[in-house]
Amino acid sequence: MNEIRKTLGYMLNTAFRQKPGLFIIYFLMLVTTLVTKLQAIFLPKLLIDQVVAIIKNSSSKENIRLAILYAVTIILLTFFMSLIHGICVHFKNLYKEWFNEYFEIKLADHAMRMDFEHTENPDALNQMSKAKEGISWYSGGVVGILDAFYNILTNTTVLFGVAAIIIISCPLLLPIVLLSLAVMLFMNSKTNRLKVDVFKKLAKSNRVCSYVFYQLSDIAYGKEIRLYDSADMMENKSREFSNRRINDWKNLGKKQRRNSWCVDLANTVRDSCSYLYIGALALKKKITIGDFSMYISSASTLYWSLASITSGLQDISKRCSYAYQFLKFLEYPNVMRNGNEPIREGNHEIEFRHVCFHYPGTEKYVLRDINLHINPEEHLSVVGENGAGKTTFIKLLCRLYDVTEGQILVDGKDIREYSEEEYRSLFAVIFQDFKLFAFSLKDNIVAGETIDSDRLERALKLSALYEDAMHLENGADTILYKSFDEHGTELSGGQKQKTAISRALYKDAPIIILDEPTAALDPVAEYEIYRQFYQLVKGKTAIYISHRLSSCKFCDKIAVFAENTIKEYGTHDELVKKKNGIYAKMFAAQAQYYMENVS
Ligand code: ADP
Repeated sequence: MNEIRKTLGYMLNTAFRQKPGLFIIYFLMLVTTLVTKLQAIFLPKLLIDQVVAIIKNSSSKENIRLAILYAVTIILLTFFMSLIHGICVHFKNLYKEWFNEYFEIKLADHAMRMDFEHTENPDALNQMSKAKEGISWYSGGVVGILDAFYNILTNTTVLFGVAAIIIISCPLLLPIVLLSLAVMLFMNSKTNRLKVDVFKKLAKSNRVCSYVFYQLSDIAYGKEIRLYDSADMMENKSREFSNRRINDWKNLGKKQRRNSWCVDLANTVRDSCSYLYIGALALKKKITIGDFSMYISSASTLYWSLASITSGLQDISKRCSYAYQFLKFLEYPNVMRNGNEPIREGNHEIEFRHVCFHYPGTEKYVLRDINLHINPEEHLSVVGENGAGKTTFIKLLCRLYDVTEGQILVDGKDIREYSEEEYRSLFAVIFQDFKLFAFSLKDNIVAGETIDSDRLERALKLSALYEDAMHLENGADTILYKSFDEHGTELSGGQKQKTAISRALYKDAPIIILDEPTAALDPVAEYEIYRQFYQLVKGKTAIYISHRLSSCKFCDKIAVFAENTIKEYGTHDELVKKKNGIYAKMFAAQAQYYMENVS
């Protein structure tokens, strides 16, 4: 109940703040529906009574005049009400589109701003999938919920009108209608419960299916799928989850059919009883033929308005419980403390003090007792085996995760004290799994900052991408990938990496981090990039992660990660001389290669 109240409040509030015009549309729809429904009960009675009088007494001019008046009123009212209603529905559908987009953007915005750890948490991802489906076609969004609300309101008003007629003129109809209604309500509530259960089950299979389908059709994965012959695997996976979905729907359909048969039976009994009762009244001449028609349509209107109110209540609660998933996602707990200390200008000093860390939801420590000091403008190289915790170390420094124990200090202050936005502006990071968007090359590099052509040209030149960019069909305005634009381009692995490097250079942040973004380059090209990069970022603090130790030579300090901690720390010359040292061994293993390739 709380869910429904909360969702309803949120939806009404959102509609009122974003598009108050929607309420005018609903008001007009309410008026047109009421006029149409009530006139369909009263006017035919008046018309029929006049027609019967004309048949009995063919010369009565007054009867003919009134019959024509009622007939014309029925025709004109029906025409104009349906015309206005149609226009309202058209505008309502436009609002619906607008709200669909509004919620999609809101959801995406929240997904981009929530704590980073949620993006690696299956529960949060599942919640996001439920939110997406719940707010769109399952609930119909704001308009779906307001539709249900409007149906309840319209039918309640109609109900009062017809209930008054029935109670006054043929009260026995009431229990007959109520009984058949009770059967329908019971069956409908069973069906709704079934639907909500299926929806919950479907959330996971929908997420897997859309992931698999996305990858099947995404050309970016085309190579992996072909070379690893993964097409069959992907198809099998999608078929498996698709079958699961189909089975869920099939089971739902079977149970739903059983319920609807019971409702049909109850309706047949109700109609038979109503005709018998009103027919008996007519035979006893207690009512006119016009009354007969009015009572019959009142009985059916009473039933359908009551049915619509109750199914409307169930419908609104069902829609709200779907849409509530969206609110739940918006409220997904952000656990990171956001301070408000400003970051000072200039270069910065970084310190890791007894830092330990395990990922949320896991127990195994990935980093233990990390102690490290990075001076302003210092260049640090981080090396170590796969899985040693190097990327995690960077994630902690960038505050994508908070440390489990210990502290990270920047300029002597715990990083949790800084405003998150300001703190993140300190870093330009190129992760090994960096992503480029299917937008223009320029958009990818500028990445939301203000566009400055000189700065862009400088970043392109520094990352050695300028020449390549100028040879593209539309220069830096060329769209990457073919997802949105048939003239889009597919950059080579090296060009993509240079684009990511340009993006970091364009940001011009005081701390630059390279987390093996050059892995796709050959060792000589990588050596060149690091050598140039070292020059480019002189005067800034820089942290490099690389498997290839040639890059370490340019750095002031090297931290060797092993067994979840820093095992060795020093300059290249110090570490390379260390007997049986990890770094010395790694360097010796790779040195031969560099002797041959790098002068
Ligand atoms: P490296 O960069 O040195 O290869 P990582 O920092 O990526 O190492 O990973 C260190 C350890 O943390 C690995 O055992 C990895 O499986 C684990 N790990 C990485 N990311 C996550 C995550 N999101 N959740 C749980 N464990 C993770």
